[in-house]
Amino acid sequence: MFPEWTSLVGFWVGATIGSFLNVVIYRLPRGLSIGQPRNSFCPNCKNQLSWGELIPILSWLFQRGKCKQCGVKISPRYLVVELVNGLFWAVIWHQHLVLGQYNSGSEVVKAVGFMCFASALLVAICTDIQYYIIPDEVNAMMLAIGLAMNVAFVSLHDPVAWAGRWPSSVLGALVGVGVLWGIAFLGLVIFRKDAMGHGDIKMARGIGAVLLWQSALASFGIAVGLGAVFGILMIFLRKGIEARAEAKARELAAASGGDYKPQEEEDDEPYEPESIGSLLFCGLGYVLCIDVIGLFIPRLYEWWFKENPRSTEEIEDQPEVEPTMIPFGPYLAAGALVAMVFAGPLDQAMQAYIRYMSGK
Ligand SMILES: [Zn+2]
Repeated sequence: MFPEWTSLVGFWVGATIGSFLNVVIYRLPRGLSIGQPRNSFCPNCKNQLSWGELIPILSWLFQRGKCKQCGVKISPRYLVVELVNGLFWAVIWHQHLVLGQYNSGSEVVKAVGFMCFASALLVAICTDIQYYIIPDEVNAMMLAIGLAMNVAFVSLHDPVAWAGRWPSSVLGALVGVGVLWGIAFLGLVIFRKDAMGHGDIKMARGIGAVLLWQSALASFGIAVGLGAVFGILMIFLRKGIEARAEAKARELAAASGGDYKPQEEEDDEPYEPESIGSLLFCGLGYVLCIDVIGLFIPRLYEWWFKENPRSTEEIEDQPEVEPTMIPFGPYLAAGALVAMVFAGPLDQAMQAYIRYMSGK
């Protein structure tokens, strides 16, 4: 459709949107308004940034990751989010607006929908890693993107709009909620543990709505694979760090002539998993999208989930982390990104596998 070089436009627009995502990642978990104040500010000196400080990627590099006013370090996350979002937008742009030929209308819908979806996933990854939260707004956004794409496909008479008699995004959303909720339910019944965060269940609904049920299932599989690999790596890494910290503490104690006392395991509050009734009721709420409607009618949210949607728990920049505590959300989102960008090769691999299994 478009010449190759326009992918650079996709990159630059994506990087610019990435700047905005950084604002979202900072403000949403803190319950701050996205629109007020309009201008970005330094979290340390609250100084409003001038346009020269708002150029994606370049501003961070030229200022060497420091605030121009107060010199406080700006997290490399700002640069990484701009770069990564730019890359995803460039890749999606290239796949659908440069290479896409099937039906130009559908390709534009996919390009725009997937770009927005990739950005929402990126926000979810960052907030879940940093604050152990996937904001409801982000999950609602993913669902809305899927439904909007579906409406566009219907109006373009694209067969992808329907899965049998179901609008494909609705079926995908139900499959997404169903699978993750099912895992949470089994974990609760069999192991008496909270196996899945509610944010993950809500995000799976959005992933299903956008990627549709087949790719969504593939993305969950990829997520589990990524989680297993990185999870094991992380546990070893953390063990290594802890062992080194302990060795240092021993050394210090020996130098000061005192005895080394290993840190006692702190007694946490007794672990109380969620009740099955609550999980059932919340799951039904997610199917009915009470959490999405509740963004506009907070009373409904409060009545259904017994929780104030605006109650932002105390956000700590460095929440206490247990060595084996790994949120699944980032893997779920990463799996969706992989399944979306590599949809073609994955589909070919699946078909080759089916041919192989059926002996043809
Ligand atoms: Zn500053």
